[in-house]
Order: sequence, then C-alpha cells, then structure tokens
Amino acid sequence: MPRATRSHSPHLSSAPPSPPTAAPSPGRSTIAVHGGTDRPRAGRETDAPVVTPIYQSVNHIQAFGTAEGLRYPRYGTGPNAEIVQRRLAQLEGGEAALVLGSGMGATACALLALLRPGDHLLASAWLYGGTHRLLTQEFASMGIDVTLVDPTEHRGWRRRLRRETRAIFVESPVNPTCRVLDLTPVTLLTKEAGLALVVDSTFASPINFRPLEHGADVVIQSTTKFLNGHHDTLGGAVVGTAPYIEEVREKMTVWGQAPDPFACWLLERGLKTLDVRVRRQNESAMRIAEWAAGRSEIRRVHYPGLETHPDHAIAATQLDGFGGMLAIELAGGGKAADRFVRRVSLWLHAPSLGGVDSLVSEPRYTSHAEMSPEERAALGVPDGFLRLSVGIEDADDLIADLERALR
Ligand SMILES: *Cc1c(COP(=O)(O)O)cnc(C)c1O
Repeated sequence: MPRATRSHSPHLSSAPPSPPTAAPSPGRSTIAVHGGTDRPRAGRETDAPVVTPIYQSVNHIQAFGTAEGLRYPRYGTGPNAEIVQRRLAQLEGGEAALVLGSGMGATACALLALLRPGDHLLASAWLYGGTHRLLTQEFASMGIDVTLVDPTEHRGWRRRLRRETRAIFVESPVNPTCRVLDLTPVTLLTKEAGLALVVDSTFASPINFRPLEHGADVVIQSTTKFLNGHHDTLGGAVVGTAPYIEEVREKMTVWGQAPDPFACWLLERGLKTLDVRVRRQNESAMRIAEWAAGRSEIRRVHYPGLETHPDHAIAATQLDGFGGMLAIELAGGGKAADRFVRRVSLWLHAPSLGGVDSLVSEPRYTSHAEMSPEERAALGVPDGFLRLSVGIEDADDLIADLERALR
C-alpha cells in the first residue's frame, strides 16, 4: 500500500468541529449578502456604510514594534480581500479561503502548495485547457510528474498510484462537456492513501455543489465565472483548512498572484446576488435543455438535468442544481454551427461563462483550438458542438432567439 511519506505536510485535516451555538447557521443567500462582514457591530453605528468601501490603497498604517496585522494586498491581507475570503469560506463550508488574481492563479498556487519536485500528481484527463497546459507543460518542467486518468474508469486511479503520489486533481462538472464526476471512488482512495483531493468546481459554484461536503480537501473556483457573475472582473479562489490556506498564501505572495482591491470589491458585489442568479440560471438552462432535446436540428444535448445524460443519477445526488451551463451538437456539424453563431442576436458570441449575459461559444475556436477535429471528437467535442452559458434574461426570449437561429 503506497503510504504518503511526506517531508512536507500539507496540513489538510480539519480542526475538530466547533461546539454547537444557539444561533442556527445562516442560509446560503444570507451568507452571499452578509458573510464575512461585521454587520452586528457595524449595524449599531449610525452613518456606517451599507456597502463595503473600496480600500484602493496598497499601504496601510502599521502598528509599532510588531509584524502583527501587517496589511499589503500582495499578501492577500487588504480589507476588501479579507471580506470576500471569509464569505467564500462560509459559502463553500471550509475553514479558510484565499482570493487570487485569476482562476489559473488559484489552481497554480493551490497545487504548488501541495507538490514539490519529485512528487507525482494524478489528474482527471477532462480538464479546462489552461489547467491541462499548467499540469502537462509547466509542472513537467519543474520535475512534478503528472498522470492523466480517464475519470470514468474508477479503478484507473488506484492502478496509477505511486509512492510519490501526493494529490488527485479533478474538475467537476467538466468544461465544456458538462459531464459530472462521481467523487466517491476518488475520495475512498485519497482517504486511504493520505492524498489531497483538489476539485475545480467552477462550473457549479457553491450554490450547486460543495465538494468539501463530499470528501474533497481543497476547492478551486475561477471567480471570473459564476461567483462574480457580471463579466467584469477576473479572479480565483482556493478554499481549504486554515494551515493549508496559509501555505497557498505564501505561494501567492512570492509568485505575485494576488488580486487588486477593486477586483475584490467587484467580486463582493457580484457575490451578493449569487444565489438568486444561479437558481434562475439552473431553471432557464433546464428549460432550454428540454426545448433543445425536442429539436431535430440538434443531434445531442449535454445537460446533467436531462434523464438521458450519462451522469444524471450522480448529478441528482451530488449537486443541488444542474447548473447554468449546457452544450448542444448541431446535426449540420461545423457549417451549421458557423451559421448559428452568426444568427443569434440575444446570445453573444463570446468565451467565458457564468455571468448575467447569455453567451455561446465554439470550443474549436477557443479552448480546443490547438487540436485536430479528430482529437476534439475523441474528447466529446466534435465540430458542431456549441457551449451555452445561460444568463438571467427571460428564458422565453433566450429560446426564441435560439429557435430563430436554427431556422
Ligand atoms: C475559466 C476556468 C478556469 C480559469 O479561470 P480564469 O479566471 O480564466 O483564470 C479554470 N477552470 C475552469 C473550469 C474554468 O472554466
């Protein structure tokens, strides 16, 4: 049995649960609006602003004779960063969180805090393009060996485990195919072998999926997507135990991956509506998926809410909502997709996802542009595949626009 004999401890076991308190824990929408602020006290102060001010200052007056309480945005200790960090930890159900300059910054620093040269990482083969490059090119050049595993082949994880394996990295739901991974076989292995399980759940947001409740040790979010939700700021987050987050903070500090105060402020504002946005997006995506499933011009619909989806049963038990992302494959292939993206008017032809504006994109011109049509098809992304990010417009209008574009 490969035991994790670590020279560097990632401190992943949580502190014992705190004793029950009288107050019931707030719901997710309440956390999204108030989490991480000091409202009860601030609420008694006449004139206190309802909205957190932007502390657009990189320097803060320091106390004498101590390094305690030193604030500097690059360390993640600016006031705007600290508020969103506490709020995100509460939303994910984790001990602590760190916000970074981008989702990629979050993934890189989260893994750099776990892996050293000579270590081995097992990762799902179904990854966001940027993550795939980070793991297979950058980490390889740093002496960190990465093995990609077909995540549907449950025994594959164990077979590829080595003495040097330190962590498992998965993305779920998967961009852009909307597959949903069953975390159970992976968590059995990570618990048994003492490995860290890192989950990128950007596609779901903590409203629909909280990996820590399912045995994950670390959660990664590209806050650029659902968490900010307004297409106006880049960011990332890592959530885990407090000692582990301190290690990620050290990486963020030296690699310079911290966000600017204004980006944190925009993220805080976006978070306030997270719950209502995501619920609406879930509802509209379901309606659009059902509509699409009945159209002859659409060969396949990829949405975990549909009973025909290969992961519907897993999604129904693991997720609280099926999400605002779906994909369709046009029967007319690449040519039909070209025509379609030119004919939609409400849906904007743009990459990225998770915001209030509905977007349509073709992976062959974005994340999968460097692959051949055959390679893309093998990954489940054939020509004619369109990824839809459902916004908060009226679902009737969104469907009418799609219908017009199909005609
Ligand atoms: C967008 C995305 C990322 C990268 O996030 P950035 O904020 O663009 O750096 C990582 N993982 C997933 C699943 C994404 O969709």
